[in-house]
Amino acid sequence: MPTLPYDTEALQPALSKESFDYHYGKHLQTYVDNLNKLITGTEFEDMPVEEIIRKADGGIYNNAAQTWNHTMFFDTLTPVKKEMPERLAGMINRDFGSVAQFRDEFLAKAAAQFGSGWAWLSVNEEGKLVITTESNAGNPLRGGLRPIMTIDVWEHAYYIDYRNRRPDFLKAVWELIDWEKVDGRL
Ligand code: MN
Repeated sequence: MPTLPYDTEALQPALSKESFDYHYGKHLQTYVDNLNKLITGTEFEDMPVEEIIRKADGGIYNNAAQTWNHTMFFDTLTPVKKEMPERLAGMINRDFGSVAQFRDEFLAKAAAQFGSGWAWLSVNEEGKLVITTESNAGNPLRGGLRPIMTIDVWEHAYYIDYRNRRPDFLKAVWELIDWEKVDGRL
């Protein structure tokens, strides 16, 4: 179970303590517990999670990917507003035109993902930044991309604080992203 780099009350009012009690304390904990149960006595038992995501299918894949996806999502948030480092901003300007256009495109794709899933910023094989969305536990590592940022768009991520208003959740979470960490993953 990953530890959070902030207190569960630290991101209020954007994300409530109650939402962390459920999303982190119950949903993520369940994925971690299920993964540990499912891999016991299998070839996956001592494998790094990234390798499980690339090789496994079914329940082991789903729980490994959900563990990894949530770890990146929670680890990318911060209560202290961070400026985007120049290296990342330069790549975003190159690949999306501007930081504002990148934000609009990312949030539009995240809002449009049908049903449960994730919106991702990744680096592709040519070193370009790409925005993709995945259903359910989907993870870009499977498609040869290197993910550096993600936002959870499962209803459980926003229903406590935002009910059905996914775009409002996305706009609020955007303000919590630690761009220094995203840059550090380049
Ligand atoms: Mn989630």
